[in-house]
Formats: sequence, structure tokens, C-alpha cells
Amino acid sequence: MNLPLFTTPNELGHYLQSHRSQSIGFVPTMGALHLGHQSLIDRARRENTLAIVSIFVNPLQFGANEDLDLYPRQLEIDRVICQTAGVDALFVPSPTSMGLKDALTQVIPPAMMMSGLCGRTRAGHFQGVATIVTKLLNIVQPDRAYFGEKDAQQLAIIRRIVTDLNIPVDIIGCPTLRADSGLAHSSRNQYLSIAGRSQAAVIYRSLQQAQKLADLQEVNVDKLLAAVTTELSTVPAFQLEYLELVDPETLQPIDRLNNAALLAIAGRIENTRLIDNVIIS
Ligand code: AMP
Repeated sequence: MNLPLFTTPNELGHYLQSHRSQSIGFVPTMGALHLGHQSLIDRARRENTLAIVSIFVNPLQFGANEDLDLYPRQLEIDRVICQTAGVDALFVPSPTSMGLKDALTQVIPPAMMMSGLCGRTRAGHFQGVATIVTKLLNIVQPDRAYFGEKDAQQLAIIRRIVTDLNIPVDIIGCPTLRADSGLAHSSRNQYLSIAGRSQAAVIYRSLQQAQKLADLQEVNVDKLLAAVTTELSTVPAFQLEYLELVDPETLQPIDRLNNAALLAIAGRIENTRLIDNVIIS
């Protein structure tokens, strides 16, 4: 059977009306689907009787100088991936059918959760994510929605929004899927040359150095971060944007490793911005 594809909230709403007795798992994406997305889809299928995927390259979350126009779009391939993965319905709205317009009502997450990490350089990004994810959750009304831990700041902010706005959905965080080299799968890896991809493996390798120190009972944050930057310096092509150790829920910086902490990094290789993180304890 062909995978049903809906382009407006109304069309999707009609479809969902006749499936409301089922449990709905929802995976919001921006497309250019890879193994990381597929792991979210697999989990949504396992834990629900209906799996819905959305593909929407959200203009609100791109800054003026970012890659909105360049962002990879491959709907036909994504459709086949979803069909093969057993997705029940695909939602591919346009900006117009998502109701994007000037003077849009927006969801603004707590400033303290947006001030560090990616929020420092990507002004307006998380407000754009929060607004669209909230709209998508209201349109789909899933029982569970699946997000990757790779976007740890996004995941923490979405958990917070769902709690603060009493949105009736379970947010499920899913582990980061990586290539054998350790590089996290990302739609933006398509921008990298083969050499760039192998250089980018330094990101995860360097994060692991902090865990190795933590395993030796090191709690000093400066020493943990220094272990990461030493490893990073082995690949001069990597331009560090930030490296921060924060509380995984509040995203506030920590000064000693007493509990599990989120070690998050962003930087560029071949001018492609990549992010990654690990929980260290
Ligand atoms: P995106 O299409 O980049 O907006 O990602 C859609 C969802 O897939 C988000 O919840 C991401 O966190 C998640 N995701 C992206 N890359 C990975 C990965 N390598 N492993 C697991 N989840 C991922």
C-alpha cells in the first residue's frame, strides 16, 4: 500500500480522526532522513500502533545567515525510507499550510535555557523550534513524540515547554546514532567531503576523553574540558564554537561534576556546523 502523505493540518486531521482509537507515535523531522531518524521511527513503531512522521524545514529556526535555502531536501527518497520503515502517514506541510505569517503568535522558552550552548550564537532559533514543535504537537496530538538526544538543548527545552504548557504528550528522548567512526549521523553531514567526515570523528573522540577522566574520579570542570580541547587540537581543521558542561535539565553551567552532566560541543569543519554531546557522570 502507498504511504499516505498529507500537506495540510486539515487533511491530516481527517485521517487521524478515523485512527484516534490507536496509540500515536510522532517523529517530527526536517527530512533528509538518515539512520538517526530511522532509529526514532523504529522506536515510535515499537511503542505505538500508529507512527506519523512530519517533514518540515522550519524557516523560523534558521537565522538570516544560515543554511535554510541550502538545507538538503529529498522528499522522494524520504518517502521511500518512511514507507520501508513502516511509517503509517507522512505529514509534509508548506510554510503557508503551517500558518506561518508575519506577527505570528510564538512560544518563547525560558531565557535561561536559551542563553548558552547553541542559543548563544543562534538568536531566535529555539523560539522558532518551540513555536513549530508546539504547533505540530497540537496538530497531531500524539500519545508520544520522539526526539534525538543529539539535539540535547532542543530536547530539554521541549520537555520544559510540554510541562509548562500542559501539553498532553510523553516526550521520549532517543540515543544518538553514530557512524562507526563515532560521528553522529546528521543531515548536514551531506555537506562534508570524505576527508571532512573523517576529520569530524574528532568531535565524539574528544568528548569521550572527558568521560575517561571522570572514570578516574576527576570532578574539576576545567580539567575535564581541557582533556577535550587537547584531543580537539589534533585536528586543526575543526573550529570550535563552544564546549560547555551543563546540567542536562536546566542547561545551567556546572562548576563540579557531582551528578550526571551534559557535555555539549559545536564547531565547524569545512564551514559545516556540527553539534554533538554526551552525558558524563
Ligand atoms: P532534524 O531533521 O535534524 O530536525 O532531526 C529530527 C529529529 O531526529 C530530532 O529529534 C533530532 O534530534 C533527531 N536526530 C537527528 N540526528 C540524530 C541521530 N544521529 N541520532 C538520533 N536522533 C537524531
